[in-house]
Amino acid sequence: MNLRRTLIVGNWKLHGTLAGNQTLLLQLRANLRGLDAVDFAVCVPYVYLFQAQQLLSGSNLLWGSQNVSQYDVGAYTSCISAAMIAEFGCQFVILAHSERRMLRLESHEVTAQRFLRALEGGLTPIYCVGEAQAERDAGLAEEVVKRQVLNMLHSLDDDAFARAKQLNMVVAYEPVWAIGTGQHASPQEAQAMHAFIRELIAARDPLFAKRIRIIYGGSITADNAQEMLSMPDIDGALVGRSALVAETFTQICRIANDLSLKSHQP
Ligand code: PEP
Repeated sequence: MNLRRTLIVGNWKLHGTLAGNQTLLLQLRANLRGLDAVDFAVCVPYVYLFQAQQLLSGSNLLWGSQNVSQYDVGAYTSCISAAMIAEFGCQFVILAHSERRMLRLESHEVTAQRFLRALEGGLTPIYCVGEAQAERDAGLAEEVVKRQVLNMLHSLDDDAFARAKQLNMVVAYEPVWAIGTGQHASPQEAQAMHAFIRELIAARDPLFAKRIRIIYGGSITADNAQEMLSMPDIDGALVGRSALVAETFTQICRIANDLSLKSHQP
């Protein structure tokens, strides 16, 4: 029996308009109604959090942000704090996405501070890890992911780790070479890495390792969702491009819901 409830999260990145979002969110709200075996969320640009809250409150589609500041308050032009995000009813925050690490050179130290701020704000972190193509080609994929996971685990003292468990923190394995390229990891490659990540977490807390959701991201589509989500350690998906079209995201969510229902049949 699977202890973990599947989680499907859309990452909108730098996409959206007020009018387009309204159509997309209302379609998703209607399409996902009644799909109760899985958790669903969309992580939208900060400026659309209010709109997400207005349109999604009371539905089974949760929402979140794509980052959070490492600061609480003060003279930090353009930063958005965890408390601000929480005011808009967010549940999730994506952290350490590879596009952030690459574009803004977010260091491990900064990510660790952001992780703590997210926890203090009552937000559930979705912590992204994943190797680049050159690292995989050099046989370093596990080593890179291990360093990223351990960096996160070591930055949490016992109190913070307890809080992370309470908030059901999520890890997203997103091989950088699979993001936005149309080239997803094979189910076996992804399964192996997810099992490896779970082992790393088990070294700190074996019970939580059984419970933590490790989701896969990187060119998930309605065509590959079934095979990816069927793997035992893949507990959901972080979906970029395919989350921007209501029909496609709905199909992925339906596949996840059907698989979940099947896995709970006696
Ligand atoms: C992502 O950026 O989190 C992602 C998984 O993107 P895509 O699905 O477009 O590869």
